[in-house]
Amino acid sequence: MPEGMIFKALSGYYYVQPSRGGEPVQCRGRGIFKKRGESPLVGDRVVYSETQNGEGTVEEIHPRASQLARPPIANADLAVLVFSVVRPELSLVLLDKFLVHVEHAGLNALLVLTKLDRIPEGEEGERIRREVEQAEALYGSIGYRVLKTSAHKGEGLDELRAALAGHVNVLAGQSGVGKSSLVNALVPELKLETNEISDKLGRGKHTTRHVELVPLAEGGFLADTPGFSQLDFAELGIDEIGSCFREFAERAPNCKFRGCTHIHEPQCAVLEARAQGRIAASRYDNYVSFMTEWKENKRRY
Ligand code: GDP
Ligand code: ZN
Repeated sequence: MPEGMIFKALSGYYYVQPSRGGEPVQCRGRGIFKKRGESPLVGDRVVYSETQNGEGTVEEIHPRASQLARPPIANADLAVLVFSVVRPELSLVLLDKFLVHVEHAGLNALLVLTKLDRIPEGEEGERIRREVEQAEALYGSIGYRVLKTSAHKGEGLDELRAALAGHVNVLAGQSGVGKSSLVNALVPELKLETNEISDKLGRGKHTTRHVELVPLAEGGFLADTPGFSQLDFAELGIDEIGSCFREFAERAPNCKFRGCTHIHEPQCAVLEARAQGRIAASRYDNYVSFMTEWKENKRRY
């Protein structure tokens, strides 16, 4: 039976792009999926059978490498975290929070700093430039790729295109940071609505729609709906937060398996690495504040 990938789900139909190429096939799911409480997702690699009139039935879903709830997508492998450097200014707390969720979901992260053309002249601009440089160095050293872009000036877009190629990409970032502008620059046929209003008010409007994976010219796909909008820790266990800080395990491997909270334990390797500057203060402080937030909200989770 032929195989393919579901790139769109709409009104009970799954649209499958055949692996062998050619036109998409409009499929129904097998009845058994419902009974098993399974449901095919956009991004699923599937086996399907062809019925009459050119339609098909999804027969089997291959095991998923990842699964996101918002947007509901299977097999995404790269979270493209978009942060503007001005309006709104780069927040490392928010960045680390996104990273915790991305790591927990099992995706790799690409950090995209944007609106670089908007950095003002003078002292204020100098300060922002310094912060951008520090963030680049910090996250680069942890192993995340950092790209600097401007959707308006078209800067860094070739690098961004190359970084997305071949991956199933999900964009994420606060409203108003420039996600739609980047997408429109990369995939003009998507024509996402930009948030002109949100830029002025500092907040955005919310639009819900179906999810679709849009093929990229260079290979790979981009989800047309941003993800990771829910940034509380309801889906994480308290002992999972630390493992979402990559460098803790790498730079303080001795703490990995002992159920250490890395906050008050004597001879904690993370605390030691933090004291020696091998783990950055901002990362460690954000870790502690996330642990605190988790404990404060425990009852609600
Ligand atoms: P989204 O909410 O993350 O999708 O953000 P938008 O793409 O809608 O952008 C929000 C605002 O920032 C809009 O007013 C855009 O024109 C502006 N913007 C986006 N990218 C850039 C950029 O690279 N440079 C400048 N100067 N403004 C940008
Ligand atoms: Zn520890």
